[in-house]
Amino acid sequence: MAERVAVLGAGMAGLCVALALAPTGREITLYERDPPPPEGGAEAAFEGWARRGVGHLRHSHAFLARLRNLIRAEHPGLLEDLRAAGARELTFAEGLPGPLRDRYVAEPGDEELAVIVSRRTTMELVIRRYVERRNNVTLRSGMFVQGLVTEPGAGGGVAVRGLNLAGESDALAEIVIDAGGRASPAVEWLRDAGATIPEEEEDCAILYYTRFYRHEPGAGEPPRGRFGVTGDLGYLKFAVFPADNATFSITVAVPQVEEALRAAVVRPEVFDRICARLPGIAPWTDPARASPISRVHGMGDLKSRWREMAPEGTPVTLNWFAVGDSLARTNPLFGRGCSFAAAEAHLLRDALSQTTDPAERARLYSHRVRAALRPYYDDMRAQDRSAARRALHGLDPGYRRPWRARLKRRLLEDGITIALRRDPVLLRAAMRAFHMLEPPQAWLTRPATLAKVLATWARGRRANAPYYAEKSGPGRTEMFADLGLPAGADLARLRAAG
Ligand SMILES: Cc1cc2nc3c(=O)[nH]c(=O)nc-3n(C[C@H](O)[C@H](O)[C@H](O)COP(=O)(O)OP(=O)(O)OC[C@H]3O[C@@H](n4cnc5c(N)ncnc54)[C@H](O)[C@@H]3O)c2cc1C
Repeated sequence: MAERVAVLGAGMAGLCVALALAPTGREITLYERDPPPPEGGAEAAFEGWARRGVGHLRHSHAFLARLRNLIRAEHPGLLEDLRAAGARELTFAEGLPGPLRDRYVAEPGDEELAVIVSRRTTMELVIRRYVERRNNVTLRSGMFVQGLVTEPGAGGGVAVRGLNLAGESDALAEIVIDAGGRASPAVEWLRDAGATIPEEEEDCAILYYTRFYRHEPGAGEPPRGRFGVTGDLGYLKFAVFPADNATFSITVAVPQVEEALRAAVVRPEVFDRICARLPGIAPWTDPARASPISRVHGMGDLKSRWREMAPEGTPVTLNWFAVGDSLARTNPLFGRGCSFAAAEAHLLRDALSQTTDPAERARLYSHRVRAALRPYYDDMRAQDRSAARRALHGLDPGYRRPWRARLKRRLLEDGITIALRRDPVLLRAAMRAFHMLEPPQAWLTRPATLAKVLATWARGRRANAPYYAEKSGPGRTEMFADLGLPAGADLARLRAAG
C-alpha cells in the first residue's frame, strides 16, 4: 500500500513537497488553515486571496535559478503553466551590467542562470493548480491543524503518527511533514511531547517595505541603468522586482537601527518620495509610466534560524520532517527561501526512496540538507552581521573605520565589484553562487579570481572609470533632510541593544 503523507501547510514548502512526492505514488494530503484562492486568475489572487498564514505573501519575491532549474528539469509542465499565467524568466543576458551588454557572447550554461519573476500570489496559485491536478494529491483549505498524534519512538525520540485537526478526526499518516512556515506551532507541540529540536537564531537586522505597481498601457519597463535596479546606500537597500502581467514591485529594506526612517517609510507619500530620489528607481515609479496597485506593506521580525532534526546523527523525531521556513529561515534580501524549500523537498524525496527505516530516513534527510544548504546559510548570516555593523556605524558621524576594515571595503568596491563588471567569466561564476548552483564562496577563493581582482584593482580608478556606477542615491544626511526626518540617533541605546 502506498505510504500516506500528511502535510501541515500549503505555502511554498507544502506545495514543493507535493511537487516532489507526487511522482513517487504516495497518497499526499495538504492541510492548510487559509481559504482557497478566489475564482479567477492572477489578478483575483493578488487582490483577494486572504492569507493570514503568510504575512509576506504580498512582498516582493524572485525565484532563483536553483528553483527554476528544478522546475524545468522535474516539472516542465509547471514551467509552461507559469509562463501561460504571465510569469517570466529573466535571463543572464538581460541582467548584464552596461559595460558587458554590447560584447556579450552566450556560453553553454548561461541558460541555467535564469530567474522566474512573478508575484508570489501568481506563483503559488499556479503551483497549487498544478499539484491539485495530480491524482494522488489532495489539498484541503480552511483546515486548521491543532496538534500532533505522537507516541514514543522505538529506540528513543518521539514518533509522529499524524496531525490533529480542528473539528475532524485525526489525519494518520506514515510520513508527517511540517510545512507550517516561520511561525509553525509544531516545534512547541513536539517539545510538549518530549522532543526538543535544537535551533540557532539571529536577527537579520533589517525591515522590509514593499509596494506593487502596474506599468501604464504601452509604457513597458524603463531602460535599465548601467548597473541594474538594485542598490545599497548603507542606511537603506532597494531593488525593483519585475513581475508577471505588467506588474512590478519595489522593496526598500531599512536597517533596524534606522528607527525614524522605519516609522516613516510605510507612509505611501514617503515611500514614493524615496523612490523618486533613487536614480535607478525613479523612472519606474514615474506616474506617467506606472501606478501603484497596493499599499506599502511592511514586515519585521526577520530572522535567520536553523533547526537541527538529527543532531550528531541522532534523530529527535521519527516520521516527521520539517521543510521550508519551519526548518531554516533566511534573510529575504537574498531571495533564497523558496529555493531552500524546493531543494529540501526534493532531498526528502530522495531520502524516503533510499530506505524505509524511519531513523535512517531522518538521518539521511538531515545530513543532506546540512551538506547542501548550510554553507549558504552561514554565508548569508556573515553578510547580515557585516551589514548591521555598517548601518550602526553610519549613525555615528565621528566613526572612522579601522584600517583593516577600510582595506576590505576598498577591495570589495574597487576590486571585486569592478572586476565583476569587466569580466563575464567572473560574473558567471558569481551568479552561479548567488543562484545556489555552486557553493557560495567557491568562486571567490579560486586563485584565478584573486588574480583578476588584484589586476583590476591595480589598474586604478582612472582606468576603471567606465565601470563605476553613477551615484545610486543621496547620502543619509541629504535624504533625511529631504524627508524631514531627524538624522540623530540614540547611539548608546542602540549599541547596548546589540
Ligand atoms: C518579506 C519576505 C520576502 C521574501 N522574498 C523571497 C524571495 O524573493 N525569494 C524567495 O525564494 N524567498 C523569499 N522569501 C522567503 C520565502 O517567502 C519563504 O522561505 C517561504 O514562504 C517559505 O515557505 P513555507 O511554506 O515554509 O512557509 P509559508 O509560505 O509561510 O507557508 C506556511 C503555510 O502553513 C500554513 N499553516 C501554518 N500553521 C498552520 C496550521 N496550524 N494549520 C494549517 N496550516 C497552517 C500557513 O497558513 C501557510 O500557508 C521572502 C520572505 C519574506 C518574509
